[in-house]
Amino acid sequence: MEARIIVEKLHIVVQPGRSLTRSMYLQLLGELPQVIWKGLIFQNQARPKATFTLWLCLHGKMLTTERLNKWGMNVDPTCVLCRSYFEDKDHLFTECSYGNQVWNRLLNWIGQPFITPQSWTQHLEWSLTHGKGKSAQARIFRMLNAEIVHAIWNERNTRIS
Ligand SMILES: [Zn+2]
Repeated sequence: MEARIIVEKLHIVVQPGRSLTRSMYLQLLGELPQVIWKGLIFQNQARPKATFTLWLCLHGKMLTTERLNKWGMNVDPTCVLCRSYFEDKDHLFTECSYGNQVWNRLLNWIGQPFITPQSWTQHLEWSLTHGKGKSAQARIFRMLNAEIVHAIWNERNTRIS
């Protein structure tokens, strides 16, 4: 009885043939903002660990020295790949000279010119543009995108340990 009152207050429409739970789930799902980068993750032919690293990166969940220092851990904030700037996600994947060399070499390998991005947002938009669709080139780009992010992060971790 109480649940029915809540459902009525939430204006949940139960479609014929659907359970109340599923109707609530679908309605709540519809209210969530679309994740614009989901196309870079799903149906990606990269290794699962590379896709997971990309997922962490896109969620901003990587344990960069910037994040660790914000949590009160006292770690050297300098990027171990270029030793020139503070390390954060934006630096590692858009500004770092080491990272840019990896992007440049591997994208040239598939005939995709690499333009050094000015910001993470610009890099993400560029990735979404080239990784969109079902063409062989888009599929290869998505795979390589995940593998490059993983390779840069892996190299960074190797140098720290
Ligand atoms: Zn760097």
